[in-house]
Amino acid sequence: MITIKSPREIDVMARAGRIVAETLALLRGLVRPGISTEALDAEAERFIRSHPGAVPSFKGLYGFPKTLCTSIDQEIVHGIPSRRRVLEDGSVVSIDCGVHLDGLHADSATTVPVGHVSDDTTRLLDVTQQSLAAGIAEARLGNHVGDIGHAVQEVAEGAGYGVVRELVGHGIGTRFHEEPQVPNYGAPKRGPRLLAGMTIAIEPMITMGSPVTKTLSDKWTVVTADGSLSAHFEHTVAITPDGPRILTSAD
Ligand code: MG
Ligand code: MG
Repeated sequence: MITIKSPREIDVMARAGRIVAETLALLRGLVRPGISTEALDAEAERFIRSHPGAVPSFKGLYGFPKTLCTSIDQEIVHGIPSRRRVLEDGSVVSIDCGVHLDGLHADSATTVPVGHVSDDTTRLLDVTQQSLAAGIAEARLGNHVGDIGHAVQEVAEGAGYGVVRELVGHGIGTRFHEEPQVPNYGAPKRGPRLLAGMTIAIEPMITMGSPVTKTLSDKWTVVTADGSLSAHFEHTVAITPDGPRILTSAD
């Protein structure tokens, strides 16, 4: 069932989303060669819990053990922070973060270069961000979920990249994952119609090579099957009469 949120609920999600955005901004400043993903996770949990009532959404969700998902290079999503995972120059790390506040969740992700990265890597990050922006621009009344996926797909595949199919965006609210599913591919005017008060996480997962995935033996980390680099950017967005409202921005 797709739930419609009241303006008050959307404002709560925006407060949760602001904490998510500030967490990601903080982490972006900490990412450098030599830091472990465990250190990033500890900093994120401390920062989130410093806000009264705010708790990390991921910790315990389906049994996930940490505050962040940290996914390095060919890892697409759901990497588990660890003292043994130390960032290296030239890598990228995708950081995914959710906050639960006053009964509602917000969810956002960003992919951060570590030290100096190649031009090819920078282009992948740029295009993935552009594909997210294109998807968000379609998150408006009268459109359908398929318009969002189609826009993401056009940008990413138009640049020669792969669009992951097995993982998709989602509705979000009192539960972290709600209906509808929001694929990063699709056809215009297909799928559920977008209504005022829907809140969805739009999250392109884009690969430099094949979009086929596999899951590692830790049962969490999803990687590209061909080992190619991947990027992941995400915002939680409300559908409003005034157009898409990004709930996970710092301003
Ligand atoms: Mg996320
Ligand atoms: Mg999400």
